[in-house]
Amino acid sequence: MEIKYVSTTCPYCGTGCGFNLVVRDGRVFDVAHWQRAPVNGGKLCPKGRYAHEFINSPDRLTKPLIKKDGEFVETTWDEAYDLIAEKLGSYNPDEIACLSSARTSNEENYLMQKFARVVLKTPHVDHCARLCHSSTVAGLAAVFGSGAMTNSIKDIAESKCVFVLGSNTFEQHPLIGRSIVRAKQNGGKVIVADPRYTPTARQADLYMPFVSGTDVAVLNGLMQEIIKNGQEDKEFIQRRTKDFENLKKAVMKDDYSLENVSKISGIPVESLRTAAEWIATADVATLIYSMGITQHTVGVDNVKSTANLMMLTGNLGKPGAGVNPLRGQNNVQGACDMGALPNVYSGYQKVTDEAAQTKMKEMWGVEEIAEGKVGYTVTEMVNILAENPGKLKAMYIMGENPMLSDPDLSHVEEGLKNLEFLVVQDIFMTETAELADVVLPAACYAEKDGTQTNTERRVQRWKKAQDPPGEAKPDWQILCELGSKLGYPDQFAFESPEAIFDEVAAVTPSYHGMSYARLDPDGLHWPCPTVEHPGTAILHRETFAMPDGLGVFSPIEWKPPAEVPDDEYPFVLTTGRTIWQWHTGTMTRRSWSLEKEAPIGWIEINPEDAKELGIKDDEVVRASTRRGSVDIPAKVTPEIIKGVMFIPFHYKEHPANRLTHNALDPIAKIPEFKACAVKVEKIPEE
Ligand code: SF4
Repeated sequence: MEIKYVSTTCPYCGTGCGFNLVVRDGRVFDVAHWQRAPVNGGKLCPKGRYAHEFINSPDRLTKPLIKKDGEFVETTWDEAYDLIAEKLGSYNPDEIACLSSARTSNEENYLMQKFARVVLKTPHVDHCARLCHSSTVAGLAAVFGSGAMTNSIKDIAESKCVFVLGSNTFEQHPLIGRSIVRAKQNGGKVIVADPRYTPTARQADLYMPFVSGTDVAVLNGLMQEIIKNGQEDKEFIQRRTKDFENLKKAVMKDDYSLENVSKISGIPVESLRTAAEWIATADVATLIYSMGITQHTVGVDNVKSTANLMMLTGNLGKPGAGVNPLRGQNNVQGACDMGALPNVYSGYQKVTDEAAQTKMKEMWGVEEIAEGKVGYTVTEMVNILAENPGKLKAMYIMGENPMLSDPDLSHVEEGLKNLEFLVVQDIFMTETAELADVVLPAACYAEKDGTQTNTERRVQRWKKAQDPPGEAKPDWQILCELGSKLGYPDQFAFESPEAIFDEVAAVTPSYHGMSYARLDPDGLHWPCPTVEHPGTAILHRETFAMPDGLGVFSPIEWKPPAEVPDDEYPFVLTTGRTIWQWHTGTMTRRSWSLEKEAPIGWIEINPEDAKELGIKDDEVVRASTRRGSVDIPAKVTPEIIKGVMFIPFHYKEHPANRLTHNALDPIAKIPEFKACAVKVEKIPEE
């Protein structure tokens, strides 16, 4: 019997913890702590601890499948490739769209956007960052010139005031939660604002329950109070920023007095005053946010407002400070970095920039690539499919499950069913794969080499621990084989993920100095522009990444969500996750240790609301919005603010996204998962 330990990086959240996969006779059977793992020092949350359990699930896809007469039949790779080549070759580039995946490696995301742009010549490539942090990329790039976490995870422990807004860090990024605990142990204060009294809120010195969708009002109120008290960092504002007067004019309006903000948000005036005082007077303060900020029709405004507050108080470019968006999926930062987005190539080089187009054509050795226009986002693709049938005819989806993850599922299903041809490449038969014409079996994270980039911009290695099951292949290999088959053998002649990474490093300025040799074992934070560069844990130390080096204040007015409660739908619905499950549950629901802890969905209802509705704890109730209804067990709990209800979105039996609204932020095109109007009723007896 041979036992070996293979150090790798967690496939779940954006924290990027390292662990060892324990392999017996060529098969992974456990996870063991890797004490020198750079992010987590050997500690793991439950998902990481049990990240081996789904790998050898009997549900894994093991052969290519083609749908014939409505049924999937097993086929050969050659037959599947022939069909894909014939079909994709029959459409105009503008009629094809590709979805890449934050669950796959950097190399695979890079190849997917290259496949779309070089082989299919379509500009329509995107991935699920659209649904979680596209407002971060757009918002922070507009104010700082770089749309990423400004500081590192470790650095949070240096802070003397940690303001957590719209992030349930202790459940969703548990090992980042440890840095918050360390900040407390070092004498720092913790403020948490959230409609739910989450495990994160329990750590707070000041907890501010508030109504979902009122973030800008809260942030403007805090800024007004700080300016009124003369506590803004005048030297930082003068030296490092511009447009402060515009911001001041906006936030000093009576609309954002603490009294008015309290009425809008539900936060007591005294709490707002205390929060402003702590943030303004701390030696150094940091702001942590996640999807509570981003998943709104005002997601970009929310993000810019967080940046306003931290620039106002001079909390950028130094240890313990920063605007720190916690990215959701394991490699959502990397998928964005790799250009799996409709507007940029890797390293955020704009597709509309002629110099960037020329550079990519030269690097890729082709005369022609996708037209230099911005392609469709995920959310636009779905809307076009549902509302304008025939405009998009074919889709290639790698490792995404929009049939459970996207808003307004009836609309998504209607759209996907309008496709003439759908390819899905995944490790399990997902709800989306069920609709496909061809399903390709992919290798999971434990079955291939590669890299992923965590939320703090640290690029780390995945290492192969076992072979894929049956005939499944790594996504990179499938894309290389298809790219060659479709006429680009030289552009897809990669023998290994390392060879792909070398091309990534060559074409991507922020990755120029990286190589597999340098990434082992601690990884490197981008930007890392040269082979001698140590990487950059803290951004914007001296200047921001703007042409004039200055951070830009943005005057932002509070706007309510696109759909607010009314007589018919009198409550706010917000959605999110539990520590035990991950997104659409394809992996965690096949991990027995996790699934047994949280096997069914629920709706959280405040006891006062439940009493008015005559609803008891555990009773199955009907939650309805203008998009649909879901029958779901009620969890009556004082841990959610009155007037707001919460459903986790993992469960196909209780799909929260049948209810959510697909109204979009006008810039980032992110949907408003965090606020729509809902009614909840007792289920009538038959
Ligand atoms: Fe994995 Fe995130 Fe848990 Fe770390 S915190 S073990 S990266 S799920």
